[in-house]
Amino acid sequence: MAEETMQFKTELEQLLHLITHSLYSHREVFLRELISNACDAIDKVRFEGLNNPDLLDGQDDWKISLRANAEAKTLTITDNGIGMSREQVIENLGTIAHSGTKAFLAKAKEADLENNPDLIGQFGVGFYASFMVADDVTVISKAHGEDAVQWESKGTGEFTLSDSDKTTRGTEIVLHLKEDAEEYLNEWTINSTVKKFSDFLEHPVVLIKKVKDEETEIEEEKEEQINTQKAIWLRPKNEITDEEYGEFYKHISHDMNSPAETIHYNAEGAIEFKALLFIPEAKPFDMMNNDPKAHLNLYVQRVFISNEFDNLLPSYLRFVKGVVDSSDLPLNVSREILQENPMLDKIRKNLTSRILKTLAAMKKKDYAEFLIFHENFSAILKEGLQNDWENKEKIAELLLFESTNKEAGEKTCFDDYLENMADDQEEILYLAGENRGSIENSPYLESFKADGKEVLLMIDPIDDFVIPQLMEFKGKKLKAVNKGDIDDKDALEEESKTFEGFIGYAKDLLDGVKEVKLTTRLKDSAAVLVGEEHSMSPHIEEMMRRMGQEVPPRESVLELNPEHAVVKKVQALYNADAKDPKIGTLTQLLHDQAVIGSGAKISDPAGFAARLNEMIAD
Ligand code: ADP
Repeated sequence: MAEETMQFKTELEQLLHLITHSLYSHREVFLRELISNACDAIDKVRFEGLNNPDLLDGQDDWKISLRANAEAKTLTITDNGIGMSREQVIENLGTIAHSGTKAFLAKAKEADLENNPDLIGQFGVGFYASFMVADDVTVISKAHGEDAVQWESKGTGEFTLSDSDKTTRGTEIVLHLKEDAEEYLNEWTINSTVKKFSDFLEHPVVLIKKVKDEETEIEEEKEEQINTQKAIWLRPKNEITDEEYGEFYKHISHDMNSPAETIHYNAEGAIEFKALLFIPEAKPFDMMNNDPKAHLNLYVQRVFISNEFDNLLPSYLRFVKGVVDSSDLPLNVSREILQENPMLDKIRKNLTSRILKTLAAMKKKDYAEFLIFHENFSAILKEGLQNDWENKEKIAELLLFESTNKEAGEKTCFDDYLENMADDQEEILYLAGENRGSIENSPYLESFKADGKEVLLMIDPIDDFVIPQLMEFKGKKLKAVNKGDIDDKDALEEESKTFEGFIGYAKDLLDGVKEVKLTTRLKDSAAVLVGEEHSMSPHIEEMMRRMGQEVPPRESVLELNPEHAVVKKVQALYNADAKDPKIGTLTQLLHDQAVIGSGAKISDPAGFAARLNEMIAD
């Protein structure tokens, strides 16, 4: 094959520019990224070799070698992993493999990559970190049964491809170091940098040194292993330092912070496995939007199998990172068959319960830390109310909410709510809305405030979808105060007779109103719109409309406060002369204010202004 020059995809060119020009301060991460890739490549071929030993070409002395050449100013990272074919090299190193679109750069900007270079691993662009230290990178790779290929680029607009005479399977990456990165030729620097983040890697990372024989003066190459290669999850807990846990967590998560909680245990009994799990402190970039799957690394007898099994951890715990290693699972079956293994369900149940317990303990013991966790991950955790029936109540115990009894920003939880409520109170009351400001003076709260009853204020957009799924907590029903009936019918018997005529009139006049009735729920306000028990809240409908979704027309009940001066006045006008044109305008205005109070928008603002002006001018 003749040498061929190809262009990077445009977005990649921009990314390379960003990497080479902005990400100086943390540039040692290039080594972590390249060694991680090498390790993944070995895991892949080792796993595939289990079912298809031919693939191994007799090479299974797994190793990642580093070699510095002071004269040529190169650092070379070699692995005997799965290697890449020509097509794979183009696909993997010539495009942004996973994100591949312009959106990527927008995200990079949003994540402020310049100031948070460690985030780069989360974008699946780890290899390009090479260009932080190198002005020329050569990749030589050979996959089983394929010709070897050489890729070379200066990290500008293009790369060249040519043949290579490499005969062994695997990949070799040669970094031609920039002048200001020559420290990476220094054995001590390489050693200490690599040790920091690869000590626990399960494959040996070796440094190839040139040693001169004192007598013969002949230079020889010698391998020195840098990492101790002890899979951290197999080591006894009391021998592992926080730093070691932290480095391992960073290795698997690409998070630059230390984890908030580390869970490390051996499960024994019906099924045996070891788990090392981490609850992050910071929210990984873009976690909410991208990928609804949880990704734990599954090992069987220390052999990495997959991080793609979606039955190993429920998706509402997808913020958890970590490793599960089981010796009870079969090794020599395909991933597809393994994924069906019923033991995975048992492991999932065990992990889930352990994580929920850890969170409950964190809430009790370290509330400040729990608050940070809650801020970052509760929106994901709440999804569990919808799809983990068994653990619903345990999840609910972990949720925090604002409340009418607390200052803005302060939180309470269901358990505290139960503790504080009067013995004769039947239900847990809540109101969902856009933000505290918009709901704390809501007409729906008036009567509860007057009675001194606490109402939970739920201002996370997901609340309105998932809280109704909970139905009840520890035997008490949940009740949305803006939905369904709350009235004491007897109290309104007298008034209902007086208002009968006007109520019938209002119902005929108003569009989208299913019923008009009197209420005791209001103290200061004149009118309120109430949805059906299981209807969507108006602010959610509003949000869906903004996202361009179709929302079915709502049918609400207009409830009127018979004690309010305006309601009394309209009713008196109606009784005096049902044909008075003012009655229509005033009734519409009562409806308008109820719409606003519910958190929805008035569909006809011009009409509203005209009605208001008419009344003011009167
Ligand atoms: P990521 O590792 O996050 O997928 P990279 O940019 O680091 O992103 O690598 C892109 C792809 O190139 C990898 O997914 C892998 O398929 C391939 N690759 C990188 N390094 C190696 C290697 N040493 N051996 C085999 N394949 C590799």
